Amino acid sequence: MAQQFSKEIKGIKIDPVIFTLKFNCQCNGECCYYGVYTDLKEYKTILGIKDKIIPLMDESQTIDTGKWFEAPQKDEDFDSGVAVGTELHNAKCVFLDNQGLCTLQKLAILNNEKKWKYKPLYCMLFPLTIFEGAITVDDEHIERLKICNKFPTTATTIYEACSEELKQFFGEEGFAELEEYRKEFLIDLQKGRDSESSREVA
Ligand code: SF4
Ligand code: SF4
Repeated sequence: MAQQFSKEIKGIKIDPVIFTLKFNCQCNGECCYYGVYTDLKEYKTILGIKDKIIPLMDESQTIDTGKWFEAPQKDEDFDSGVAVGTELHNAKCVFLDNQGLCTLQKLAILNNEKKWKYKPLYCMLFPLTIFEGAITVDDEHIERLKICNKFPTTATTIYEACSEELKQFFGEEGFAELEEYRKEFLIDLQKGRDSESSREVA
């Protein structure tokens, strides 16, 4: 059964775990070794700019566009209701080069465009994800990675580490609302801890 969350911003529920889980990004793109699900619209955009992508690929990648994507499948967590997975080539997403860089992001940067212009939403959000209508931590994907968040020696939360991405996703106004909710949530959490410890002392 889907989890119940009390807060919703722009139609997306908020899982408060994003405010407390510690995280630091410390490897070189291991999250791209499994490919990603793109929305049907993103898939069409990427194929529409294939002539710009291909010259930026290296020998570890395939320029055969027929090998870039899996068959489309229904998925309600995607805007269009259809998800299309990227294929793997040389044990990594077809768009990951041998330097650990995403060719879609490289293209945007080289063209002086927003760095996430062509990158699938789920790539931009990771280690966050949208699951059953809620923004949450992508535990399932993190679990199968060797390094990702296995040694979180930082005080930084996943929310802080991903604030730029969250701002991009929710927009300035939505992000401000998210920040307000975070403050309220953390105050309530602290109050709960305080009353818990006073019960233990009594
Ligand atoms: S696998 Fe995790 S630690 Fe590595 S680049 Fe991706 S998000 Fe960062
Ligand atoms: S599209 Fe780019 S960011 Fe997304 S998994 Fe592939 S290489 Fe990584």
